[in-house]
Formats: sequence, C-alpha cells, structure tokens
Amino acid sequence: MTHETLDASAGTLPAEAIDAIERAATSAHRHEELFSERAANIRQSAVRDVFDISMRPGLVSLAGGSPYLQSLPLERLSATAADIIAKDGLTALQYGAGQGTPELREQICEVMAAEGILDARPQNVVVTAGSQSAQDVATKLFCNPGDVVLVEDPTYVGALNTFEAYQVRVETVEMDQFGLVPELLEARIAALQLAGRSIKFLYTIPNFNNPSGITLARERRQQVVDICRRANILVLEDNPYGLLRFEGEPLPPLRAANPDDVIYLGSFSKIFAPGLRIGWALVPEHLQRRYYLAAESVTLCPPALNQMLVSAYLRDYDWKGQIETYRGLYAERCRAMLAALKEYMPAGTTWTSPQGGFFVWVTLPEGIDTYPLLRKAIDAGVVFIPGAAFTPSDEPSNKLRLAFSAVPPDTIAEGVRRLAPVLQEAIAA
Ligand code: PMP
Repeated sequence: MTHETLDASAGTLPAEAIDAIERAATSAHRHEELFSERAANIRQSAVRDVFDISMRPGLVSLAGGSPYLQSLPLERLSATAADIIAKDGLTALQYGAGQGTPELREQICEVMAAEGILDARPQNVVVTAGSQSAQDVATKLFCNPGDVVLVEDPTYVGALNTFEAYQVRVETVEMDQFGLVPELLEARIAALQLAGRSIKFLYTIPNFNNPSGITLARERRQQVVDICRRANILVLEDNPYGLLRFEGEPLPPLRAANPDDVIYLGSFSKIFAPGLRIGWALVPEHLQRRYYLAAESVTLCPPALNQMLVSAYLRDYDWKGQIETYRGLYAERCRAMLAALKEYMPAGTTWTSPQGGFFVWVTLPEGIDTYPLLRKAIDAGVVFIPGAAFTPSDEPSNKLRLAFSAVPPDTIAEGVRRLAPVLQEAIAA
C-alpha cells in the first residue's frame, strides 16, 4: 500500500492505527531474501484452512479427522494430572531422557503387542511429539533435497507437507481397493532407479489409509516389504489407526515380521488424546542411535508431564476398554455415513467402505475437480476436504474426503444430505 492511498483512505483513523498499517505494509517483504530455499516448499495445509472454516456455527464439518474425546474420563484425568504434579512435579516439569521415559517406552511395547508387534524392545522405541514429528525426524535423517520418497496415492497431507518441506521429490504409487499394488510399486521403483534417482523410503499407511480408508490386503503385506528390501529402500509404516478396526480380522503390521526393514510409527492421538502430542517410532536396531540423535536435535526430549500422564493412563485406566468404546462409536458413525451416502449420493459417485479408522473417500466422475466445489458446499452448510490436498503439489482431483469420527450420526446424515445437491449439480454441468 502506498502513502497516497493510505492517506486518502485513512479518514478519521487514529495516528497509531495509521502507523500500524504503514508498518505492516512496508514490512510485508522484509527479510524475504533470508528465507531458506526449503521455506518456499512449506505449504499451508488445506486441512488446517478448512479446519478453521469448519468451526463456524451451523456448518456440518465432515472435514477434520479429530477423535471424539467426549468419551474420555475427563474429570478423573484432570485429577491424575494434578496428582502427577503434586507428587512428582520436579520430574514432570523438568527436562528428561531424550528417547522418552523408560516406563512409557516399556508400555508402548505393550501397545504395539496389541497392534501385532510382539518383539518390540523399549531400547528401540523413541518417543516423539506425535507421529507427525516422527515423520519429520525420519525425513531429516534420510533425505537430501531431490531424493525420492514413495507414497501411496492418496496419502496423508501432513506427511506430504513434511516431505516437501525437505525438498524431497514425492512419487506416488497407485492403490486399488486392496491397497498399494505391489506390481506397480516394483515397476515404479525400477523406473526411478534406472533413471538414477535415489529412493530413500516408502511411506505407507497400511490400515485405514488417511484419506481413503483403504487397508492393505494381508497377502500384499510381505510382498511390499520384500520389494523394498530388494531395492534397498526402507519402509516407513504409519499406523495411528491400527487399533481402531471395527470390522474384519486384524492384520499384522508390515513391521511384525520385518524388524530390520521397517521404521514403525505409532501414536496416542487416535487411541487417547492428540493434544498431548505423544507418539513414537520403533526403529531397527542398526538405525536406532542415529534416529534417536536426530529426534533429540529437534526437541531435546519429549514433554515429561505428558509422558507421565500417558503412562498413568496406560497403567491405571482401562485403556483397552476405552479403545473398545472408540471402536463401537466409530463403527456406528461409519455405518451412518455409508447409509447416508447410499441414500443421497447422485448417480456417478462411488465411495470406499472402511473397516476402521476415520475416513470415507468419495469419487466423482472423471474430469470434475472437487476443489471449487468446496465453496459451494460451504454455502450449502457442509465442509469436506478436496482430494487435491492428498496428492503432491495439489494436483486437481475428482475425489473428496469425508471424516465420520468427530460428528454424531444424525449430523453426519445431515451433512451428506447437504453435500449431495452440490455434487449433483457438478455432475450435471
Ligand atoms: N499419520 C496419519 C496417517 C494421520 O492421519 C495423522 C493425523 N491425522 C498423523 C499421522 C498425525 O498424528 P499425530 O497426532 O500422532 O502427530
């Protein structure tokens, strides 16, 4: 903004306000040249944008994949937190071990046993600020700018943001209804390696993929690891939803039979509370020390108080019972969403039927970009996340993600009812 326009439009603004506006206008580009090349790749998450919009009263948000925390014993938890500070405050409020507290790392091994990993050892666990931070540490540790990371198409937007921030080249591999297609993975690796690209790892969400809800079939699991092992590529397995299966048999994590080839990421965000920001990485023995040092360089140590609260929760509460509660709740919400989709969705749309997790993935006919439909959906009183958010560099997409985790069944049905005419109009156009 120039001085002239500022003066002309300033009218009766007080002098301090004019000063503030001038300062903002002249400082907008200051220090621009100091940003790293990496900074240009740090993008705003479409999910966070929509998250803010979805707080508006009256809107039905099928956008955010937040867990339904109302079913937690909040009063008892607040007493536990107070107790930790009263009895053990000097530890809870102090710096702690960089790898995480020994007690929590032991307990995390029990959680992983429930997830199907029976041989995890506490010394190979690194506690992190959520799975998000564990992804960041892995990327920092392995990736130079220009290196390749393979991901499923579609994949978790937060992981894409991390990879791109490290100037990694993200290459996608297609999924079908049974998850990542091994033959396509193998062909993609061969083509990239032939072209001289350096592929560092495959990032995969085998259970109830965010955003698609798709699960990698049992018979493909070992194949995927074998393909990566043969090509000397690590697997970064992200499994925050694994225990939230409400249909079908649990499947072994990729890590279960492959301790040397898979870095396994877990989280308390979906089975307990995301606000505590406690997750972990289970790291192969030969990588453990380097991974731990990289994690320490980011956070020094994970938050002691939060770790102690998670430990108390795992020790003194019926955490498995709470997961059962979550499963029942999400199963009901998923059923409500699938029933509403069946009732209201226009011809030409299809969607996935997840066996767990938080998300359903809707596909529109080819050629329709769901991004511009978001504005119309908001006008109609419902929010979703356009599929483009889950692809590298936001390529246009005829898909959209609906989350059923945070909204009661009636509201889910109302949201889908509001969305249907918006999609119908786009299909008819
Ligand atoms: N991975 C996936 C697949 C997710 O869906 C999410 C959260 N939506 C995360 C990681 C981040 O989890 P955390 O809160 O543990 O950082």
